[in-house]
Amino acid sequence: MSNKAKIISTDLICLECGTIITIQRKQNHKRKISHIENLWCYKCEKVIKHYEVQDVETFLETETNSNEKQKIKKLIIKRK
Ligand SMILES: [Zn+2]
Repeated sequence: MSNKAKIISTDLICLECGTIITIQRKQNHKRKISHIENLWCYKCEKVIKHYEVQDVETFLETETNSNEKQKIKKLIIKRK
């Protein structure tokens, strides 16, 4: 029996300052992308809601009508 969980990298965006954290996680089961997670932001120095995308570049290039996503895009661009 092989039990090799695929390791995938995921980008999480701080919803306060736009800092991007890349984490590696085991892909045990299909996760829904675009979800919110509470994580420590080293810039804000507190636990902030982070928005999870698979890849920031792809996220920025993808057109969206969602106000939430547009707000997050602006956050990312502003921090660059
Ligand atoms: Zn932050």
